[in-house]
Amino acid sequence: MPSRTRSARYARRRQRRMARVEHDLTDAQWAALTTAWGGCAYCGATDRALQKDTMLPISRGGRYTLDNVVPACGSCNASKCNLEITVWLRRKKYDERAFLVRQVEVARQVAAAPLDA
Ligand SMILES: [Zn+2]
Repeated sequence: MPSRTRSARYARRRQRRMARVEHDLTDAQWAALTTAWGGCAYCGATDRALQKDTMLPISRGGRYTLDNVVPACGSCNASKCNLEITVWLRRKKYDERAFLVRQVEVARQVAAAPLDA
């Protein structure tokens, strides 16, 4: 089967999957997340546009929720791709424990903050 067809089918499947999952991260939460992290959650870059990175990829059942989204620069986001977060952090030799601890702290802090401020 030609791969063009296969990738088109994959794209349709992804679209359906995206429509099914809950996207409950609000714009205000996203803004608070980027402020709390102060840059890319992984490499700390502050001079680049930040993207919503799902720590557990959508393809693995992850969602766009406060507990699963961190701001990431384009290069970290592209490099991590569909890898499991811990596998990728280890591969990049980032401090896995420090990241995970900070992620929980930031998510808690944003969840507790008044969102209409
Ligand atoms: Zn980065």
